[in-house]
Amino acid sequence: MPRVRRNLNSRRKEKTEGARKVRIRPMDPVEMCGKGTSVMKLYRVEETTDQTRIHHLVFFDRHGWYCEHGKQCGAVGDVQKFTRNKL
Ligand SMILES: [Zn+2]
Repeated sequence: MPRVRRNLNSRRKEKTEGARKVRIRPMDPVEMCGKGTSVMKLYRVEETTDQTRIHHLVFFDRHGWYCEHGKQCGAVGDVQKFTRNKL
């Protein structure tokens, strides 16, 4: 039986996101930030790569989405994708 190496093409994808796993859990903004908070949505993101594990808190309020690490943090995009998929 000839062996065909078909996964050469998938190598590029593996390198960029293969090891990265993201777990997203919705949180209660009032419980986390207190009564009267302007935060409307809150998600805890657990990002795992082969070497590290990073926790993020991603908020949504009238200013938009932002992570505790700043608006540029990759977790912001992850949560946006997550919430879009749910709708
Ligand atoms: Zn972050």
